[in-house]
Amino acid sequence: MNTNKIKHIGVFTSGGDSPGMNAALYAIAKSAEVNDIKVSGFLKGYEGLIDGDLIPFKSHELKKITQKGGTILKTARSKRFLELEGRKKALQTLKANKIDALIAIGGDGTFRGLLAFSEICDIPFIGIPGTIDNDISGTDYTLGFDSAVNTAIENIDKIKDTAESHNRIFIVEVMGRDSGYIAIHSGLTTGADAILIPESGKDFIYLLNKVKNYNNEEAFLVVVSEGDELGAELVASKIKEINSDVDLRITRLVHVQRGGNPSAFDRMLGIRMGVAAIESLLQGKKNVMVGISHNQLHLTSFKEVVKQHQVNNELYELLELFGK
Ligand code: ATP
Repeated sequence: MNTNKIKHIGVFTSGGDSPGMNAALYAIAKSAEVNDIKVSGFLKGYEGLIDGDLIPFKSHELKKITQKGGTILKTARSKRFLELEGRKKALQTLKANKIDALIAIGGDGTFRGLLAFSEICDIPFIGIPGTIDNDISGTDYTLGFDSAVNTAIENIDKIKDTAESHNRIFIVEVMGRDSGYIAIHSGLTTGADAILIPESGKDFIYLLNKVKNYNNEEAFLVVVSEGDELGAELVASKIKEINSDVDLRITRLVHVQRGGNPSAFDRMLGIRMGVAAIESLLQGKKNVMVGISHNQLHLTSFKEVVKQHQVNNELYELLELFGK
């Protein structure tokens, strides 16, 4: 018999989708069932909370979709939840459905939303960091990052084949918003000649140094993060200023990196974080994000979860070494 105070949990995905979210949903449903807790999924993030749009969760159904990218709960950004009026409606939904706790899978904005919500709603909230950008403090890895890097690598490998056949310069733009993690990981592992990230702030000089000896007789691969201050177009025009004869193409991988089956790492991360979210609730935790550090699960208060703009020193050193 369930002796916990928590009998019914609401779950939703919010912000951008990322591979591994479905695996986390499955793990939440399974772990809740074992602990005799009912789970309902709210559709389209905070929008579903406001509109009372929810579906029952059964682990035997969810286990069929652990390998699928995206999120079966759909996701959205909600302007209405930014307003107190929207949050009050969400509170009514929770009361009407007798929800005792909420688990949200999303980015730092989603957790800021939960913090604002906690001012009028005192049930426990737990967060799972789901974003391909790997830009959240309190966790070494966010759900979806590894899959996005794998997708980027697969595509960059293909681009390299054709670049080498034509001795072309290819500028490949990868996602990551203000974070260079996807660019660093995909650039280093595909042997990119230059990797440009938002955090470095000295990409222009670096690029000039790299390109000045280019002789049009080999391929040259630049991986640039979408948030880099130069951007793919400017990088292309700077290269052409130095060498007007270059055969140069730009490829943007854009949303391809968000979709696709999650990697083994992200499936396991989703499963570990999903189970940890339920266990945290059972231990009486509230307003914390489940993270992973040194391969151990740990919790960080929402108040301390911030967007991470720093690339660690070891990665910088790798960039410098391979940039020589
Ligand atoms: P991603 O990293 O993929 O963008 P995210 O969770 O950071 O994910 P946001 O759009 O920043 O995405 O936030 C998701 C939703 O959280 C917002 O659409 C909004 O509804 C809610 N939210 C964000 N900040 C606040 C806030 N200060 N108060 C209330 N709600 C908020």
